[in-house]
Amino acid sequence: MVFHSLKGTQMTIIPRFKVSALVVLFLGVLAAARVAQAAQPLKAFFISVGQGDSEFIELPGGKNVLIDGGPKADSVTSFLNDHGVKKIDYLVMTHPHSDHYMGLGWVFDHMPVGHFYDSKIESSVAGAKSVREKARTQPGCETVYPRPGDLLNWDDQTQVQVLNSCPDPKTASGGVDYNNCSIVIRVSYHDSAIMFQGDAQNEAIASMISRFGGFLKADVLKVGHHGSRNATTEDWIAHVQPREAYIEVGKNSYGHPTQEALGILKNAKVNVHRTDLEGTLEYDIQ
Ligand SMILES: [Zn+2]
Repeated sequence: MVFHSLKGTQMTIIPRFKVSALVVLFLGVLAAARVAQAAQPLKAFFISVGQGDSEFIELPGGKNVLIDGGPKADSVTSFLNDHGVKKIDYLVMTHPHSDHYMGLGWVFDHMPVGHFYDSKIESSVAGAKSVREKARTQPGCETVYPRPGDLLNWDDQTQVQVLNSCPDPKTASGGVDYNNCSIVIRVSYHDSAIMFQGDAQNEAIASMISRFGGFLKADVLKVGHHGSRNATTEDWIAHVQPREAYIEVGKNSYGHPTQEALGILKNAKVNVHRTDLEGTLEYDIQ
């Protein structure tokens, strides 16, 4: 009887121990997985495309974003090939100017795009119309016209907010109208944020300050309009308060980046990085 009792006790204790150990192991693996997931960085690349813009973001959850494609396809092509990128989850054309969209046709021709973010400012230029047409006709690609204030559901751990755009049909009387329709996005992860300003200048800046004033702060600023004097104002920099500024610029006849913009950034003690001097640049948020 005693033997049986002991045996019985042993038989109940051992499985319980095994179950407990398995539970502990399982919880440990879950915790480790959570730590591993939380530790994934957000990586932002400011691609050297000459005089133009292109930025690539690897989101912590594994999806990616391409904002603009530069003035021709070669640089963005090399970058995406070098990084083994086979699809784009979220593609943003900030505004239909050729120094921002020319590389995008190649992207549509060579890989699937999940979502295409666009504005509704008109363009009769063949290159811009072609990019919009490729987005419209690519199977599985959804064109989105975000509104200022929209939160974009790109990543579980990342807050993505649209601060400027032209979601309603708009005609343009000049280049400034296009710049001021730029889709401006603030990407925030952990305690850090990056502001992608497109080419937004005075009028759009004033509108963002008036609507989002206290929520514009970002450690990192992709400087607007290649460092033109109209896209970097003291008021804007005082609201964004960046520590690091990235200027995407190449050989040009506009005087970009301007001494005015560089002076404002210098006075605010911002570290300035330039793709024309340093090539493609990377900023990671851990
Ligand atoms: Zn531009």
